[in-house]
Amino acid sequence: MRAVRIISEPAEIPSTGQGSRGLVPTMGYLHEGHQELIRRAAAENDEVVVSVFVNPLQFGPGEDYQTYPRDLERDARMAAEAGASWIYHPSPETMYPAGFATTVRVGGPLTERWEGERRPGHFDGVATVVTKLFNQLRPRRAYFGEKDYQQLQVVRRFTADLDLGVEIVPVPVVREPDGLARSSRNVYLTPEERPRATVLYRALLAIREAARGGAAPAKALAAGEAVLATVPEFVPDYLAVVHPETLEPITDWVPGARAIVAGRFPTVRLIDNMEVWDR
Ligand code: AMP
Repeated sequence: MRAVRIISEPAEIPSTGQGSRGLVPTMGYLHEGHQELIRRAAAENDEVVVSVFVNPLQFGPGEDYQTYPRDLERDARMAAEAGASWIYHPSPETMYPAGFATTVRVGGPLTERWEGERRPGHFDGVATVVTKLFNQLRPRRAYFGEKDYQQLQVVRRFTADLDLGVEIVPVPVVREPDGLARSSRNVYLTPEERPRATVLYRALLAIREAARGGAAPAKALAAGEAVLATVPEFVPDYLAVVHPETLEPITDWVPGARAIVAGRFPTVRLIDNMEVWDR
């Protein structure tokens, strides 16, 4: 499989003409999860652009911007294999030239809790870069993983609020055979941590099982917490059962209710989520 063409300057972006362009925004180091987004986009659009950009704006001080894994050659092959038409790979200086001074910010509780609380400024960085990618690439549709569930809701919010005219398509979480959600950051896990990292998935499953068995949200949550406690080297940031759009904690089940989890192993921070009450 030949790798696809890589475009790095906005001036070189081809116009879409009459065709539909699907966009898959990524930070690169592609895996099967990204490939699922690309396949979905290829099935639904005339052309698929995969953006590969490790966005400095969405990393906080002390986070892994410098060490985030990068391998553009491999990304180009994997993108081609999944059906991408070309890759957009701008430099940070191209995206944020001297004098750049604008932030796209979604206000309110959606961005204040969970990831927003642990990663101040993170969603501002996401909203700003995705808005720029939409304006540069003019996609008809853009594909986002439910893996980053809160991010998906934030993207939906500013896309609607700012009339960006892009259809946001959610794609379910793609997992390793043992249930660990696929992530570029999984390569940081040590061989000892790797099998134990399924604890996030197992906690989410326990919540779903409890819910299906008739437990109220608080009781189901306790079942998930008990699972997390079996792996003491995993330090949870949060485990919660939330409304699927507002991400507000719930006390009674609502259709599409989600369990969300995040926390840290010594080497890496992981997040995951699952629908625990059917729509
Ligand atoms: P990232 O490169 O981590 O910024 O991810 C780029 C896109 O791929 C985001 O929309 C993610 O939600 C999505 N993604 C990452 N991992 C997965 C996964 N395991 N399953 C589904 N989508 C994913």
